[in-house]
Amino acid sequence: MILKIPFNNPYMTGKELWNITQAHVNGQMAGDGPFTKQCHRWIEERTGIAKALLTHSCTAALEMAAFLADLNPGDEVIMPSYTFVSTANAFVMRGAIPVFIDIRPDTLNIDETLIESAITERTKVIVPVHYAGVGCEMDAIMRTARWHNLMVIEDAAQGVMSSYKERSLGAIGHLGAYSFHETKNIISGEGGALLINDPTLSERAEIIREKGTNRSQFFRGQIDKYTWVDVGSSYLPGELIAAFLFAQMEEAETITQRRLGIWQTYHDALSPLCQEKGIRQPIVPDGCRHNAHMYYLLLPSLEQRTAFIARLRERDIMAVFHYVPLHDAPAGKRLGRTHGPMSVTRHVADCLVRLPLWVGLEDEQPRVIDRIMEALHGL
Ligand SMILES: *Cc1c(COP(=O)(O)O)cnc(C)c1O
Repeated sequence: MILKIPFNNPYMTGKELWNITQAHVNGQMAGDGPFTKQCHRWIEERTGIAKALLTHSCTAALEMAAFLADLNPGDEVIMPSYTFVSTANAFVMRGAIPVFIDIRPDTLNIDETLIESAITERTKVIVPVHYAGVGCEMDAIMRTARWHNLMVIEDAAQGVMSSYKERSLGAIGHLGAYSFHETKNIISGEGGALLINDPTLSERAEIIREKGTNRSQFFRGQIDKYTWVDVGSSYLPGELIAAFLFAQMEEAETITQRRLGIWQTYHDALSPLCQEKGIRQPIVPDGCRHNAHMYYLLLPSLEQRTAFIARLRERDIMAVFHYVPLHDAPAGKRLGRTHGPMSVTRHVADCLVRLPLWVGLEDEQPRVIDRIMEALHGL
């Protein structure tokens, strides 16, 4: 009898509390203190972007990106439907219309070959979402964006430590957004970052994040008083969050290696049975280095997926499906528009199941795999 295996189990490095104590000793609890600066530097050095800014969440980073895109009501933003609500909401909040297109059957990322035909005079932004930390076809997406003079905002919520042709996810488009939510690989409970690749956007990004004021310039001594200069909100997390997060960042390499080990163990162990049963395993294209954010299986039908999840639950293993496609959600129907048939999206929404994957699962994994095989055999 094994204990119940949760779908996710947040990993702690052990250094978080020490860092939080240090932040306490430093005496600065508000944001942009020493730990926030270390987190910024970690992201900038790893990804080569001009500027990183910690935020409360990836949702907050996407909202900032939508501000920076200078959208007018009725402007259109092309994105996949198979994604988290924040991908769309951030733009809807600016009066823009999400235009949902289908995903690729291999990576489950936005189908870049469909973007061109979804572009209208109102199109302003393309939002690639790097599903499972596997990169979208960024070369083609950037080419289309340049040709039509569109902005690219990467939803790299799942993409920390992943790359596409040696470039970090989140650092290829004009802007990128990371998530440090506890369900992601590198965590601070809630947390995120805006990655600014286009340096002309840096100053305004700082202002939007600081309630529409030029306070960041004031703290750098560049001006002698700060004032209200633009629209904005409060998007910066306090130092305790940054202190926690920096402990995770220092272990990011180890965390990623361990996750990759678990991912590969699933992949190898399940391969023969998946082939026999017509179950599709994840595909990582050449040129994409992923971070093992997720291990999923695509079952042949909704009925089989439902049965599989139930059979795993009977065996104390928590496996879960994923997104309800946004184009099919009540708000998506009201606030967005769909371009083209969404057959891959529909199929994946019905058939995808995510297996438990968290650092520390290694010891139990052989038994977890046995139970998964049992559950699959009975389908
Ligand atoms: C997790 C996630 C988000 C939201 O991240 P938060 O930090 O919780 O706001 C957005 N987009 C995608 C694709 C995600 O996976």
